Amino acid sequence: MTDTSTTALDGAPNPTANTAHARAVPNVDKPVRVRFPPSPTGDPHVGMVRSALFNYAFARHYGGTFVFRIEDTDTARNTEESYNALLATMRWMGFEWDEGPEVGGSYGPYRQSERMDVYAETAKRLHDGGYAYRCYCTQEELDAVNEKAKAEKRAPGYAGTCRNLTAEQIAAHEAAGRSSVLRFRMPEGTLTWDDLVRGEISFDTANVPDYVLVRADGSPLYTLVNPVDDALMKITHVLRGEDLLSSTPRQLPLHAALIELGLSETVPVFGHLPYVMGEGNKKLSKRDPEASFSFYVKEGYLPEGLLNYLALLGWSPGGDKEFFSPEEMYAAFDGSRINVNAARFDLKKCQAINGDHVRALAPEDLARRIVPFLAEQGLVADPPLPEQAATLAAAVPLIQERMVVLRESVDMIGFLFVPEHLFAVDPADAAKALGEDARPVLEAAAKALEALPEWTTAAIDAALREALIEGLGLKPKNAFTPVRVAITGRRVSPPLFESIELLGRERTLRRLGAAIGG
Ligand code: GLU
Ligand code: ZN
Repeated sequence: MTDTSTTALDGAPNPTANTAHARAVPNVDKPVRVRFPPSPTGDPHVGMVRSALFNYAFARHYGGTFVFRIEDTDTARNTEESYNALLATMRWMGFEWDEGPEVGGSYGPYRQSERMDVYAETAKRLHDGGYAYRCYCTQEELDAVNEKAKAEKRAPGYAGTCRNLTAEQIAAHEAAGRSSVLRFRMPEGTLTWDDLVRGEISFDTANVPDYVLVRADGSPLYTLVNPVDDALMKITHVLRGEDLLSSTPRQLPLHAALIELGLSETVPVFGHLPYVMGEGNKKLSKRDPEASFSFYVKEGYLPEGLLNYLALLGWSPGGDKEFFSPEEMYAAFDGSRINVNAARFDLKKCQAINGDHVRALAPEDLARRIVPFLAEQGLVADPPLPEQAATLAAAVPLIQERMVVLRESVDMIGFLFVPEHLFAVDPADAAKALGEDARPVLEAAAKALEALPEWTTAAIDAALREALIEGLGLKPKNAFTPVRVAITGRRVSPPLFESIELLGRERTLRRLGAAIGG
């Protein structure tokens, strides 16, 4: 097995450097069932959302079932807040789960904390069938074995001490009141699977020690509950991050045991999605602000923009197509062209793709999506009052071409909605553009606009050019910048004459007056 964290990056996401295996996808002739099984700890992060997306797209592509399962057996780390955030994340992305929390399904419950009886029963079956055994080693004994292995330059790990205890030995341990964990009995030999992403992968099971399924206190571990649920929920394909690659050789023989016990019918097909790298060629970590899903919601990314970008982290629809809708992705995503190479997370690229999706929206749709951002700042009501809706409808075409994320609209067009007594010019922009020499410019502009018979963009344009460029002999930049700052509050704004028209005569003159007086 190669450690891909050191594989050279291809400047990803770069669909042309795709090293994916384009080949037939097994197991899709029968109904496809995939799952997204996050643990509710901390904030949802983008790597997780990418895993959800790839599974969701796969299910949609094959008309299969998307199971949403909550892996919440680690009670010390799980929070209800994180659980709620997971559900909200899925809904924001538009991932409608067919089975899972709140919707139910035939293989529930879908929160592992509600399935403890299932795990206890399955653990017992594994033990009684000889697939697992009780291990009585104390922590000190395990440490000593590891120390010895280290000294002899052998790999550490459980040495199989309790694998073949006799009935007498077991009875003696029990009589001595020793506590015990349940360990899986790894078969000997080589384990091979055909990874959907990485092709054939082999592990020598000599390097995979017998692992713990159930703690001494009876609580089941990920090692048990994850594959057991995949089996019982009849999952056909497991697409998950490459960080889980090393759990697959443990899980495959457990799946085989469950089949032999009659608890399951098939082993899922596994596919390990490439790492997502952040700054400095390191795995994108929870500490990177752009790793947190909530960042994208707060900034005002569009769900379809983020989805498009996340899809490119390890996949492309072919050719050099990089812009696509969710439906287009689902139609193309058959699971056959997932990249092996790590993908580089590139926020600039994510912004560019989101900007493309913003421009692709119908203006009314964009206006509707901007409302919560303006409303959050108290600039409009939600839903907006009729007059606010009309201004917004007129303003959106002015900013649609220059917006990357929805939040930017607040700075761009907030000046049209802010109550007059709260309107303020950005101090830095005021210092640059509203000095002493701006006064005659603003006075001439006010005079020209005051007398204007017709309040249209064209009339405003003509009047200001005449007064400032011809009248005062100014260059356009020197003529219009003070006016722009005085009425919009900033040096960067939507087109000036349109902005003045939308603002109306009264507010325009008041703001020019305030700038002249100030
Ligand atoms: N709960 C596990 C995780 O979030 C699931 C891993 C898997 O997909 O198998 O890491
Ligand atoms: Zn032991």
